[in-house]
Amino acid sequence: MSIDTETHPALDACFLGPYGENDSLLEKLVVEFLRDHVYWRRNFHPEDPPAIPTSAAHHPDYQAFEARLRRELHQLSAALKKSVPFHSPRYLGHMVSDLLIPGLAAQMLTLPYNPNNVSEDAAPVTVDLEVQVGLQLARMLGYPHDPARQDCAFGHLTSGGTLANYQALRLALALKAFPVALRAAKVPEIGVPDDDESAFNLAPAAAIGLLGRWQAWLALQAAPARRRWQAAVAAERLEQHGLARFFARHPQLRTPVVLAPVTAHYSWSKGVKLLGLGRGQLRLLPERGMRLDLAALEETLADCLRQRQPVLLAVAVLGTTEYGTVDPVDGVADARDRYAARGLGFSVHVDGAWGGYLASLFRQPDGGLRSLDAVREGFRAFPAAEVHAAFGAIARTDSVTVDPHKLGYLPYGSGAFVCRDNRAMALLTEEADYVFHAASADDYLTRFRSLGQFIPEGSKPGASAAAAYVTHKVLPLDYANFGRLQAQTILAAEAFQMRAERFAQDMQPRLRVLVPFAPDSNLVCLALNPAGNTDIGVANAFLRKLHGVLRCDPSQPLQLKEFFGSITSLRQDAVGEDGMHRILRALGLDPSTASDCAEDRLLILRHTLMNPYVIDRHNGISYIDLYFQFLARTVDHFLAKAEMPCVRPSPCEEGSREALG
Ligand SMILES: *Cc1c(COP(=O)(O)O)cnc(C)c1O
Repeated sequence: MSIDTETHPALDACFLGPYGENDSLLEKLVVEFLRDHVYWRRNFHPEDPPAIPTSAAHHPDYQAFEARLRRELHQLSAALKKSVPFHSPRYLGHMVSDLLIPGLAAQMLTLPYNPNNVSEDAAPVTVDLEVQVGLQLARMLGYPHDPARQDCAFGHLTSGGTLANYQALRLALALKAFPVALRAAKVPEIGVPDDDESAFNLAPAAAIGLLGRWQAWLALQAAPARRRWQAAVAAERLEQHGLARFFARHPQLRTPVVLAPVTAHYSWSKGVKLLGLGRGQLRLLPERGMRLDLAALEETLADCLRQRQPVLLAVAVLGTTEYGTVDPVDGVADARDRYAARGLGFSVHVDGAWGGYLASLFRQPDGGLRSLDAVREGFRAFPAAEVHAAFGAIARTDSVTVDPHKLGYLPYGSGAFVCRDNRAMALLTEEADYVFHAASADDYLTRFRSLGQFIPEGSKPGASAAAAYVTHKVLPLDYANFGRLQAQTILAAEAFQMRAERFAQDMQPRLRVLVPFAPDSNLVCLALNPAGNTDIGVANAFLRKLHGVLRCDPSQPLQLKEFFGSITSLRQDAVGEDGMHRILRALGLDPSTASDCAEDRLLILRHTLMNPYVIDRHNGISYIDLYFQFLARTVDHFLAKAEMPCVRPSPCEEGSREALG
């Protein structure tokens, strides 16, 4: 596959561009569709005369109002010039870049119609688009995406990855507790497990099967009996009792735990709190080489089985927020299948808020999975065989989070939750009547038009759905289309890594430089230490100083910034003791200086390489090259001015763990 943008001029029309190159394209679209919207208003009931007279604009009050409006807008516009220049190839900081014109235009076009995707009544058009977006994403991920299939996937948008992860927890819990409710209500004939523990530990697929049998059985009952059974089961559901009462009524059952790698995003902590499970039920598993350690997962699961400790969900991260690494999704799905057979069922969720869209690189236009060799073509090392296996195994998981507002290049707030089998969603509906309808009563689209029944939010922007839908239509989610954008991020990351190696050589007498681990995707971290220094505290202080130059600083004119980068830390619990010592030694740092509680982590620079113009082929400029030149100048400046801080930061200072996306 050729990834040179110059051979794909279509990609040139994708973004407004660092210089606003496509201004006239965007302007034309905005004006054209604003006019179109006005025609729509006028043609609703053309017999209704204008309610605002044309002469109104001449009234002094009108003019005063307009003047005030303009003044405020000018002030806003001026203030916004201090915004972070996400669009610039000099921005290598957080998980954001320029916006795709298809999405931006579709969103702007839709805004004045103001559809509310809480329901079909408030959004007759965009609710359908949102359901279609779910299917588009499902196809990219390898889930069943034909709505005629009973087990078709279902996806919807959320305000972001945080809420999508929460939705995964909510669905997994509903699915886990429902069989217990069927048992408590003494539903006969449909094969409810004989004891609470077995019912609570069904594998998700088995629970969905049971739900289907219950719906079918219910449909056969006469109306009064049906209502009685519905009420009986509804009264026993966890969603009715609440956690405390539910577990009090089922004393054999323990509160389930959530397993996630130690690199998991902090939204998981928020999620377990919000669900009422409590932070104590989130077990963070160690990593090996920045990927979830399958041996540790195995050990934990074996332990849970022994202790009769139920597991709600195992999370695999597809592109960690801090390092871009990819967990072995295939291994986690294998573990789920093995333990389901031993009576410890749990769901597997892929947190692909960051890396989800990379799946487009692995997808053929016909929907098939591309081979490892095919994906590799054109890259230096991407993807590792393990990474390819992880993407291939998404199809076997139970649900996925993916953020259109990250690698989907769409405006905030746009996250997405996709579950592999739509039938599970019946357990999240608010109206019990509806829940217990036979599954076949409505077709897929009709069922999911009442989106508000299923989503954690209420009112929400239909404009976001329009943006995602149009983008996925213009750039289908396969390697030949949307994948080209993703390929550029990988190429940029590989170029960055190569350039970092040269930087390490050039700086050798003065600075030790290390890419601490081979990146799985498009985030590249850089560990630095002034030559001769052995103290982690000093190295961290040096890095903080560098970060001071690379971070956003609203007190200074924007143009003074040459580049933006972000910072994160390496912790022993994430890298492992061996890994941590390897990295520290390579930097000439003495691990024993880590004993101080403030220095249990090593600060490193973090670079997000998603800007499509990081390598400007048109002008032959590599902003990666310029960045390393800038870094060399800055480091030399610090070292020459002996600005090397020798004082260690105060003990126990809060580490600056990556908080932003
Ligand atoms: C960004 C991110 C999240 C949270 O997503 P928001 O859209 O910021 O709410 C969750 N998980 C991972 C892996 C992320 O990178």
